[in-house]
Amino acid sequence: MQYPEPIARLIDSYTKLPGIGIKSATRLAIHTMEMAEQDVTGFAQALISVKRDLHFCSICGNFTETDPCAICADPDRDQSTIIVVEEVKDLMAIENAGEYRGLYHVLHGVLSPLNGKGPDDINIDTLVKRLQSHDEIEEIIVATNANAEGEATAMYLSRLLKPAGIRVSRLATGLSVGSDIDYADQITLIKAVEGRTLL
Ligand SMILES: [Zn+2]
Repeated sequence: MQYPEPIARLIDSYTKLPGIGIKSATRLAIHTMEMAEQDVTGFAQALISVKRDLHFCSICGNFTETDPCAICADPDRDQSTIIVVEEVKDLMAIENAGEYRGLYHVLHGVLSPLNGKGPDDINIDTLVKRLQSHDEIEEIIVATNANAEGEATAMYLSRLLKPAGIRVSRLATGLSVGSDIDYADQITLIKAVEGRTLL
């Protein structure tokens, strides 16, 4: 016996989310059907709005409703330092720690030869252009995750940018190997930025 078409379609939609298999998707779809109509409408509107109203900042790659984003557009931020992160959630983690006052650049991924991801597949090109057009940038702090791909990406950026006279550093090793930036607690993140090491 098959679920009626609307439920089957919703189950199919939920399986497109990361970590959601067919069983979880079925549970979520049935739960959705049992929710109050206004909650479901709100949910659907939030889904549409995240695609319609949010864009990538053309400078740093952050999610934003305005372009450039609020961080790039803030003249009070330290324009000499850029922290390079894998994903927007890492930017949010460092930003929420509350100490760092420089700028960011979001790669939207890492170098991963095994998965066929090279420099052209992540947001490196705009970083290079950014450095070429902004003399005031002195240091790039690479805050990719502490795993093999994160390290490889840091080394690649170091080799690419150092010849241009940019200081390239890496977050201190307070972050344990294999750990994700966005799971680190705020004190650890602040210390990791303060105690960064030159590459
Ligand atoms: Zn931005």
